[in-house]
Amino acid sequence: MKGLISIVCFLFVFSLKAQNIRIGLFSDKSIKELEGIVGKGSYFIFKDSTLLAKIGPADVFKANYVGGLIRVVVNGTEKGRAKSIRVIQDKQEDYLQLRLLQPVAKQRSYEGDFDLEIRKEAINLINNLDLETYLEGVVESEGGPGQKINFYKAQAVISRTYAMKYWNKHKENGYNLCDRVHCQAYLHHRSASVTIDSAVHQTRGLIMVNENGELYPTYFHANCGGQTSEPHYVWNEEIPNLCSFKDTFCIHTQQAKWEKKIPKDQWIKFLVDKYDYPVWDSTSYDRLTHYVQDQRDAFYIHPIYGIPLRDIREQFKLKSTFFDAEIIGEDVLLHGRGFGHGVGLCQEGAMNMAKRGYTFDQILGYYYPQMMLVDRNNLIYK
Ligand SMILES: [Zn+2]
Ligand SMILES: [Zn+2]
Repeated sequence: MKGLISIVCFLFVFSLKAQNIRIGLFSDKSIKELEGIVGKGSYFIFKDSTLLAKIGPADVFKANYVGGLIRVVVNGTEKGRAKSIRVIQDKQEDYLQLRLLQPVAKQRSYEGDFDLEIRKEAINLINNLDLETYLEGVVESEGGPGQKINFYKAQAVISRTYAMKYWNKHKENGYNLCDRVHCQAYLHHRSASVTIDSAVHQTRGLIMVNENGELYPTYFHANCGGQTSEPHYVWNEEIPNLCSFKDTFCIHTQQAKWEKKIPKDQWIKFLVDKYDYPVWDSTSYDRLTHYVQDQRDAFYIHPIYGIPLRDIREQFKLKSTFFDAEIIGEDVLLHGRGFGHGVGLCQEGAMNMAKRGYTFDQILGYYYPQMMLVDRNNLIYK
């Protein structure tokens, strides 16, 4: 009960204070020069409270890093220099097409306002916008096109819960979350799909909490291969509320199965060099020739050898740790299931559930047992 009270207080404060979220754009780049073109509407460029320029669809705005300042140029004319610049939209839904000139990066479009700040001798480009608008971009980037609305609704709740749970993840970088899969992929200003936008709208404010009222762990992956993974198999630690179970919804889908051949000598060298695998012992060698995982294991062959499957996955860049292995001639042939770490929600299983008519709360309840949906804005428990 105490936990429930604390989350209520947290949500109350949160919803009053923060409707907007700050996202670091092109966050893996050290930006020296960028270009902005108005995609729709118009934008105002400010240095503190001084208006430097108003730009519309025909204008080209450039910002580059010069000696510790940001230099603003519009249509070839310098408008000013400052340590920080704000680029503010005239109306909601106005958006900016941004591309990096140095280093070069492909154009992307974003709604909302932008803060350009100096950080580590480069420009920190931050998109400052409404949380729900941000989620429309995230749901498409993370969920891909062409799915049923209940899958997108489930993804929207996951992404909203994640944003709240990790609100301060990039505090030291000057924003809330980055635009990469490190946080959540955010590659567009909003989706091109009405279905995605209405999925976000129809779940507006909904987040998942556990039985103690804490924000639910929202791990997900592409395909579990028929059984989700124990979190400690993947990260060496337990995660409350998540555990392994058999998933019947994903086994006939696209990424349910894979195969990979690896030269036998490479495979054995890795096992011997890193784990002292006793290949000289005939029983141990025989066990190498035919390994079967009926259920997901944490260790390859047997725990006594101490070889975590996650290490093998990383070393040989495998789609998953859920594989059988046999030696055929000079190769090890792997028969694998699933794609990703396997913890939490299986996206292809969830897509399939949505196709079969399950609702988003049924989908979330299947992959996140004990989750409860809470409206963060109205504090209505559902
Ligand atoms: Zn991040
Ligand atoms: Zn699955």
